[in-house]
Amino acid sequence: MQPSDLMRPELLAQGAYSVPDSRGMIKLDAMENPYHWPADMQAQLGRVLAQAELNRYPDPRAEALTQQLRAVMGVPETAGLMLGNGSDELIQILLMAMAGSGRGVLAPEPGFVMYRLIAQWLDVPYTGVPLQPDFSLDMPAMLAAIEDQAPAVMFLAWPNNPTGNRWPRADVEALIQAAPGLVVVDEAYGPFADDSFLSEVGQGKLMVMRTVSKLGLAGLRLGYLAGPGEWIQALDGLRLPYNINVLTQAAASFALEHNAVLHEQAGLIRAERAALSAALAALPGVEVFPSEANFLLVRVPLGRADAVFEGLRERRILIKNVSKQNPLLADCLRVTIGTPEENAAFLTAFKQSL
Ligand code: PMP
Repeated sequence: MQPSDLMRPELLAQGAYSVPDSRGMIKLDAMENPYHWPADMQAQLGRVLAQAELNRYPDPRAEALTQQLRAVMGVPETAGLMLGNGSDELIQILLMAMAGSGRGVLAPEPGFVMYRLIAQWLDVPYTGVPLQPDFSLDMPAMLAAIEDQAPAVMFLAWPNNPTGNRWPRADVEALIQAAPGLVVVDEAYGPFADDSFLSEVGQGKLMVMRTVSKLGLAGLRLGYLAGPGEWIQALDGLRLPYNINVLTQAAASFALEHNAVLHEQAGLIRAERAALSAALAALPGVEVFPSEANFLLVRVPLGRADAVFEGLRERRILIKNVSKQNPLLADCLRVTIGTPEENAAFLTAFKQSL
């Protein structure tokens, strides 16, 4: 018996999510926070984790951490809140819940690839609606797709990955208004943006998904989904027991007590984003797109994306080559904001590779 005897062909065609080897490189490919914690805070975390009881299963509902997240992040009292092993797991739970309903998923594209991938795994119909060439929403096309597909879930990454822009709030509100199903505003990059829908969650069809990954805790794998209570309760039935492990619960709780440090680092990243954006925009033939995230999307001269990406790699700098991900991203590269030193090294290598 072969995998092909039992697995759907579209699943067999997929390799594992590929993550390039970044050993010894300046790593600007995955929207991580480049900063470490102050040494005393790191040492204190070590003492906290030393107390963790690894012989026991974690609190299955991560009750204490959930309450703490509510308070620190300002989740409305009327909203339900559920935690996931990264927001990727929350996307999976949402789509598992809809699988078999006959209704599908809708998202603008280019967008976060996991919406499409997980939908494909679970055999949930997926519709990607192209953005405009400037990465704004094509509102007539979105509204027509909503009308036509009546999607069970619409994902709006706000700000969007990999484009970095945040669509006008009024556009998002109009889509929420028109949607017959759930609307998940994915605020993974919320810490670097100027606006949020979190305070509006409670009743209705709006959900807000967030993650601690971009804020400096990518290694923990922790995302959270705020939504109407009855929806969170229903989705909770599809959550694997103990999905948030003992070490993550302890470390995240400690980190939230020191939330100010994380937000200070986010502030540094925002300032560096402005500086790097200006420096790149000054280069002839280079287009930098507006970003409210912790990365920049950059268009290099026609046909040069692969060469620039390789030139950077030869100089031990890893970014993401998104130029073949979507026709709208032709000649585009995505670079995560690093420390001032990393950004300076990137800029030098980028100029040499152009
Ligand atoms: N949503 C968006 C828009 C993202 O870009 C990412 C990470 N690339 C995620 C969700 C997933 O984050 P997590 O690390 O919490 O799984």
